[in-house]
Amino acid sequence: MHHLPGNLFILSAPSGAGKSSLIHALLGQHQDMQLSVSHTTRAPRPGEVNGVHYHFVKVDEFKALIAQNNFLEWAEVFGNFYGTSRTAIEHELAQGRDVFLDIDWQGARQIKAQVPSVLSIFILPPSVAELEKRLNQRGQDSQEVIAKRMQQAKSEISHVTEYDYVLVNDDFQQCLLQLQQVVLGQRLTLQKQQQHQQALLTELLAN
Ligand code: 5GP
Repeated sequence: MHHLPGNLFILSAPSGAGKSSLIHALLGQHQDMQLSVSHTTRAPRPGEVNGVHYHFVKVDEFKALIAQNNFLEWAEVFGNFYGTSRTAIEHELAQGRDVFLDIDWQGARQIKAQVPSVLSIFILPPSVAELEKRLNQRGQDSQEVIAKRMQQAKSEISHVTEYDYVLVNDDFQQCLLQLQQVVLGQRLTLQKQQQHQQALLTELLAN
């Protein structure tokens, strides 16, 4: 996939770090960036739309997609299956659009093994107290569920060392700006500029 004009990004974070808000704010500012829609076997939450937030499928459908080699990566996360389809991503990257994968560390490992040019970004909450507060503010879950989420957050954060960039989401606007800088910077690497500025380089280097 590295020869395709678009860039591939992985964004991982524990629940409560503000990852979804950051991605949506970024995508709202850039028409040439897309969020990959994963398949999942978990039930839709209130307000979630099939085909927009996820492709919601039954376990046997998911297993059939695995057998058909449809997924670039898949993993079991908190008791449900999640997977990233290969074709949609390739199509977007081929059109020159940057694609974001909102996936966990297990998925990130699999993607990195297959697409070495991928750039991975981890988003941290600014403190344990703030993380707990954010998980509470959703107001949908019991104390027990929140305590479990705190444990899951720790487990996700323990993989931070496997990522290229680490952002701390304390001030939202500042973190959004940092995300934007990382993403836009990736468009200027030698490898990408050799593709995008081919005509210029040819002209400048001609005898
Ligand atoms: P949620 O159920 O809250 O939407 O997502 C739970 C976790 O699954 C999040 O950490 C999210 O990043 C991860 N996830 C979502 N889609 C995928 C996917 O396609 N592959 C992998 N490996 N993880 C995913």
